Order: sequence, then structure tokens, then C-alpha cells
Amino acid sequence: MAGGGNAIRGSRVGAGPMGEAERGEAAPRQAITYFCAHEHRSVITFSIEAVVPEEWDCPKCGLPASVDSDNPPPAPKIEPYKTHLAYVKERRSDKEAEVILEEAIQLLRDRRKSGEIIF
Ligand SMILES: [Zn+2]
Repeated sequence: MAGGGNAIRGSRVGAGPMGEAERGEAAPRQAITYFCAHEHRSVITFSIEAVVPEEWDCPKCGLPASVDSDNPPPAPKIEPYKTHLAYVKERRSDKEAEVILEEAIQLLRDRRKSGEIIF
């Protein structure tokens, strides 16, 4: 399972730790140390099967961090905290979309029940 890691890596960064959490504590782990431009050192634990990303958002400041301590990635121009917030918002809007859809379906059903036929 070594090849083709790059394609998977891109989607995994955005997906966050959700997948790992579900695997439980019994899964073997590997600890990877990341360094950001603020010289924070963050140890991130991955499942042993996970494709370890070369970059990771620093949990302390949100900047991209790299496994290479001598060469941390430069700070991007965008506000780092937006990254985390964006994930939360993304998830929430998905949930909202689901609710809105559910309400729309419910509304259609209610109207059908009341004798109003909609095509
Ligand atoms: Zn940092």
C-alpha cells in the first residue's frame, strides 16, 4: 500500500481526524513530529496504515507545519485560524443542507396528505 499516496494525501488532509478516531485505540500508531514557521513542535499521532502527510496544520497556531525541522513551510497570507473554522462551517452547512432538504420533502408530503397534488 505504498504507491499512489499523493492522491489520497490531498483528500485526507481535508477530511481531518474523523476516520482515525473511528478505528479505535487498538490500531497501531505512529507519532510524527511537525515543525511550523513559529518553531512550534507538534507530535501528531497517525494510524500506522494512514498515509502520513508531509505537511500538517500546526495545532498551536494553525500554520502549515512540515516534518523537516530545518525547513518549515512559510506562513500563508490567509489567516491560519480560518482553516479550522472552515472545517467546522463546512460540516455544519452540510448538516444544514440535509435539514433543509428533509424539511422540503416533509413539506411536499404534508401537502400531498392534505389533498394538494404537486408535480
Ligand atoms: Zn505553530
